[in-house]
Amino acid sequence: MTPTPRIAGVLQDRYHSPQITVEVRLNTNESPYPPPEVWVRDIQRRVATLDFNRYPDRGAHAVREELGRWHGVSPEQIFVGNGSNEVLLYLFLAYGGPGREAVMAPPTYGMYRQIAATTGTLISECLRDSAGTIEPVDFAKRSRSAQIGIVCTPNNPTGTPEPDTLSAVFSSCPDTLFIVDNAYGEFSKARTPTAGGNVVVVRTFSKAFGLAGLRVGYCIADPEVIAVLDSITLPYHLDVFKQTAVLVALEHRLQLQAVVDEIVAQRQRIVAGLRELEVRVYPSETNFVLFSPLKPARSVWEELVERSVLIRDASTWPGLENALRVTVGTSSENDRFLAALKEILHPVAISRRVQ
Ligand code: PMP
Repeated sequence: MTPTPRIAGVLQDRYHSPQITVEVRLNTNESPYPPPEVWVRDIQRRVATLDFNRYPDRGAHAVREELGRWHGVSPEQIFVGNGSNEVLLYLFLAYGGPGREAVMAPPTYGMYRQIAATTGTLISECLRDSAGTIEPVDFAKRSRSAQIGIVCTPNNPTGTPEPDTLSAVFSSCPDTLFIVDNAYGEFSKARTPTAGGNVVVVRTFSKAFGLAGLRVGYCIADPEVIAVLDSITLPYHLDVFKQTAVLVALEHRLQLQAVVDEIVAQRQRIVAGLRELEVRVYPSETNFVLFSPLKPARSVWEELVERSVLIRDASTWPGLENALRVTVGTSSENDRFLAALKEILHPVAISRRVQ
């Protein structure tokens, strides 16, 4: 027996995707393409010049400057973390906590719930309207009595952007910190709300940049919010290798993000393929597609794993019923997924054709 942790309940309800060894891995919304060779080559060259015996630049000044230049804001409006999950955690540590409340609208990114529980923040669940987007009146009502409001746009796991009208809610609740998680923003044509005042925009290098393994995310916010985050961050939390690798990624930004168009084209192909299989498809502006088969989702997921295709079983997620989420892969991975799904959902059609 060991002492009881404060977070015992959270540990049982962890948000994670099984890491199963398969040939086609389409479960965690990563980019299917490795970063370009020029990025790898430049990092190799730069690594040889780094002082690994010294602590890194504690404020990651160069990274903030470059990110600020790109987004047209000052470095004082940028905070960088080890993945956007860490940025979200720091935001909750600073603005949430026991006796405080965060508004979120399920179905949405599962880590919000976990981070709220880890930090002792209460959750206020907001309604969605018939189109599946956040219901602004309920969101405003709840946000007025909360300290944090979260908008994931485009939303994970549905893939849908939230309406511009939410900006009116942000300005009507000046005492609430609104976190706009724009992890999939590059795959969407929707406008991202402007950061500043009580609005924080969180972004990541894990999706469109294809650098999930590097673990880098950041937020753009009012300098006062950034100063609060800086005051609670562990010293030297961004290592010297990471700071260098991000700078090189920003130098080659256009090349790293060149795959976005291909991913969007492949997403459209998956959507068309799924529609042919007569499943309910959620419209997506991200690098994944949510769909509901007529057969039980769990058994479809298992049958896909048997065919060495791993996607995400979303059937037990709050606010969803019988849903599965597939990440856009390479053209051949998507072929494998669609062919396997067709075999599972329409076995008769396949066997007839073979005869
Ligand atoms: N926000 C959303 C909506 C996500 O889907 C993810 C990753 N699945 C993250 C944040 C976290 O990404 P990372 O920590 O890799 O930046």
